[in-house]
Amino acid sequence: MADIVIIGGGHAAAQLVTSLKQQKFDGSIVLISDENELPYQRPPLSKAYLKGEMTRERLVINRQKLYEDMNVDLKLNCRAEKIDREAKSVLLADGSTIPYGSLILATGGHARQLEVPGCDKTGLHYVRKIADIDAMHASWDKAEKIVIIGGGYIGLEIAAVARGAEKSVTLLEAEDRLLKRVTAPTVSEFYHAVHSSKGVDIQLNKIATAFEGDDCIRSVVTQDGARLEADLVIIGIGLIANSELADAAGLETNQAGIVVNAQCQTSDSDIYAVGDVTWHHNPFYDRHMRLESVQNAVDQAKVAIQHICGHDVSYNAQPWFWSDQYELKLQMVGLNQGYDEIIERGSREEGKLAFFYLKEGRMIAADCISSMAEFMQSKKLIAARVPVTADSLQDPRPFKEVATD
Ligand code: FAD
Repeated sequence: MADIVIIGGGHAAAQLVTSLKQQKFDGSIVLISDENELPYQRPPLSKAYLKGEMTRERLVINRQKLYEDMNVDLKLNCRAEKIDREAKSVLLADGSTIPYGSLILATGGHARQLEVPGCDKTGLHYVRKIADIDAMHASWDKAEKIVIIGGGYIGLEIAAVARGAEKSVTLLEAEDRLLKRVTAPTVSEFYHAVHSSKGVDIQLNKIATAFEGDDCIRSVVTQDGARLEADLVIIGIGLIANSELADAAGLETNQAGIVVNAQCQTSDSDIYAVGDVTWHHNPFYDRHMRLESVQNAVDQAKVAIQHICGHDVSYNAQPWFWSDQYELKLQMVGLNQGYDEIIERGSREEGKLAFFYLKEGRMIAADCISSMAEFMQSKKLIAARVPVTADSLQDPRPFKEVATD
């Protein structure tokens, strides 16, 4: 029997092992991942790794030595097929079973697929795993006309890399603005203007309805009958949580993911879930949510391990996220739902600005673009729930000084 069995090989899984080391855990650990890699960072996949500026080795989060030091039985390229809650064991694809003391599901999610005629043609790519980017790299260099489907972070980051490589880029977004799910209209407009100025042809309210070509993609057809030539299509239209093991085991799940409590336990107290796969409560915003961010994967993994090691802990983290596009570094903190005022600070021309979301005179979220001081200070102002004013947030003195007046 293994004291702890981890299913998943992403950011959350890596942090689980790091936290076990920090807790000086000396029990047995098994880590099962269906990818043939040590747990690695996904954010660079649509940034430095796609550009060829980061090696595969640097994507890896923990060196092999940590797993050796912790005696982790690494089962890579190995899929967990079933959880038997009565026997407290996991069935693997090779037919073996691993009994567990505590089981942690860190299964993340997979890219939402676009199921339209022609979606099986070569030249169509999703962006979730190293293998996806490696497959894309083969055709990336000679691709001239790229169509990106989805105007969220991944689509926009890839558009920026593709324009950096001087490719023709058309970006289709089904909604009436970019980044609609996560930012205010004014931030969407800013990013729309940036990408347009860099030469991306952004087409809003456009839905891809078919892909044409022989075996290889040649064009994308949209709902209005338009045909866009393409030799490479990249699709970034969201994530589906990998909650099928939990579903089949009868754990509480919903359409978004696996339901967990403040200690990251599922409806079975011996089974935890962490990271992109969880549907959890955020006490600060008093809302249930699923987050797709490194911050959440790391913070939930810490909570789960501390709880397993006997500490009295609860998840209570501030959501934050980043996205790199061209020379702009976007850092977002908090959740903007329910805001009643937006204050803008900084300069659009210089590409250094911040958007502060206020609700009843207090900051609840901030989108900071190449503005580190504003990001750091916003974290504090949001956590402190102190009243803020437009005058103080727009005071031209350094932000650290003004916001603490
Ligand atoms: P994942 O990283 O998805 O890992 C889950 C792992 O479990 C995978 O290896 C999967 O194959 C494996 N698995 C699933 N089911 C099984 C099974 N049955 N058996 C065995 N193994 C299984 N976040 C940010 O904060 N900032 C960013 O800039 C950012 N950029 C991103 C860019 C890209 C291209 C992508 C894809 C994501 C980005 N994210 C970013 C999101 C961030 O990477 C995720 O939030 C994070 O990876 C979640 O970690 P996780 O461990 O929960 O899940």
